[in-house]
Amino acid sequence: MGQLNAGIVPVTPFQQNCTILFDMDDKHGVVVDPGGDIDKVLAVLKDNAISAGAIWITHGHIDHAGGAMELKEALGVEIIGPHEADKSLLDNLENQGRRYGIAGARDCVPDRFLTEGETVSFGGHVFEVLHCPGHAPGHVVYYNRAAKFAHVGDVLFRGSVGRTDLPGGDHAALIASIKDKLLPLGDDIGFICGHGPGGRFGEERRTNPFLV
Ligand SMILES: [Zn+2]
Ligand SMILES: [Zn+2]
Repeated sequence: MGQLNAGIVPVTPFQQNCTILFDMDDKHGVVVDPGGDIDKVLAVLKDNAISAGAIWITHGHIDHAGGAMELKEALGVEIIGPHEADKSLLDNLENQGRRYGIAGARDCVPDRFLTEGETVSFGGHVFEVLHCPGHAPGHVVYYNRAAKFAHVGDVLFRGSVGRTDLPGGDHAALIASIKDKLLPLGDDIGFICGHGPGGRFGEERRTNPFLV
């Protein structure tokens, strides 16, 4: 097993960080949150000779899940996650697409929903599933203990936190998810988030105005 690596492909008008997690040695991995621009995602996989064995979803918003069905069909792989509490969002992506002017968005039917405490993996890279509601009711975070890495989706950003004014949003629940589940993992955990640059939990714990 080689080192865990991550490549980011910004997708949709929201510049969402579609993330390819892969093993440096065998170039096998997964695609996290293919919200759209699937041609672009497929080109990055091909150009870097990376084979993706699954699609992992953090939550049911269009910029994260709108292209999942198209990528699933292109790759012949399963869609895993998020938590079932986001089913109503996933069932409504075509409507969201019309509202936000995103062509080609499709309702997403995951092959498997996830629950707190489960693990998902590829090639020996194991990720714990943390259910972190607040930005979306079924939001999950993928945490790799060995690599000290978390993909936090839209729960936490560098210097900010996820918006909670969308259906199912709950600001108190969001802050509790961050303070009770993410920050206790340790200051040295590096993260990739759904928009903008990633960072480290310690820096957010000390300086993020929503957390101090
Ligand atoms: Zn979102
Ligand atoms: Zn987003």
